[in-house]
Amino acid sequence: MWNSAYSVQNFVTRTLESHGAMVEQTGFALVEVLLPEDLGEVFDGRSFLRLAFDYEVAQETEDCQFVTFGSYLLDAVTGLALSTGRVVQCYVPVPNLELPSKAAEQIGQTVSFIKCKPPRLKKSYPLEFIYYQLNFRCVFRYDEKREELYSVLVDMHTGRQDSEVQELLPLLQKAIPLEKREHMLPQAPVITMEDAYNRACMAVGPMVRMKMEEIEGGQAGLREKELSKATRYYDRTYEELRRKLFRSRDLERQKRFKQQIAATESDRERRLHDIRERFVVEAEVTLDSIVIYHLPKLNLELEVQQREELFPFEVIFNPLSREVERSLCPSCGKPVMQLARTGGNIHCSEGCASAKVR
Ligand SMILES: [Zn+2]
Repeated sequence: MWNSAYSVQNFVTRTLESHGAMVEQTGFALVEVLLPEDLGEVFDGRSFLRLAFDYEVAQETEDCQFVTFGSYLLDAVTGLALSTGRVVQCYVPVPNLELPSKAAEQIGQTVSFIKCKPPRLKKSYPLEFIYYQLNFRCVFRYDEKREELYSVLVDMHTGRQDSEVQELLPLLQKAIPLEKREHMLPQAPVITMEDAYNRACMAVGPMVRMKMEEIEGGQAGLREKELSKATRYYDRTYEELRRKLFRSRDLERQKRFKQQIAATESDRERRLHDIRERFVVEAEVTLDSIVIYHLPKLNLELEVQQREELFPFEVIFNPLSREVERSLCPSCGKPVMQLARTGGNIHCSEGCASAKVR
């Protein structure tokens, strides 16, 4: 339906064009760019670039630059986009970074360990967490053309983009962003941009497919009507020719009718195929823009007692949702409520760790 190279290509060419560059596609995943003078500085004083967005194309093309995640060129273009709002930084205000008194109760409701005492909160400290909102523009092509924008929120610390994370999006969007950071905090580790992009694609895929099915469903009535109209027309023509063929005694004429019947049949196939084709919905998805949210959250260090042994565990309090976030199973990464510990390994009750140990 789409590939990441194409999305990157679209992002790069549109950003360059919006800065006055002339972009010409010269082959599959290959473009030539004439840069305006004021952009020369950004691209080492060059005025011409040949960019490949596919590894193999880059290998086969002389004097070109391969653009992918982590490449100098993509970073430069992202920098350009930053200056024009294609990538926006938002510092989310958090009025209260104190841990609420009901936090202990919330921890107990969010995570528990089999055959262990309830976790005890040892200490809490704030960290800055990053969320990426990736906005995808999707063009649906069928009889008509329709455009939709889809946003996917990715938790850059855990990589999560499930429904629980999406629930945070309206809260983040509602907060009026600050111009500067309110608190200078250490940053929680983040996943790579490429990883975030792939995870967002996984989330946007089903949204796009659902819309495609919806459009196809809405078109089904019209398609069937056109198909049956065409079918009726060819049936009538066919019957008429058959009648003429049976009635005819002239061999020459019989031959001509037979040819006409064969032509009608192939015509009919082609026409029905064309009608079906016309109602196939195609979707083209491209990354349009990114909003980067910086959100301070509280990291909670817990202590859990299993028999006479104590072991540490961490959860996160989100001051925006005012909730302790669900933990991820340290062994398989799934969001879970209940964990177990065997041989020093923490895993979920679905037995993910025992599978790993084996
Ligand atoms: Zn697990």
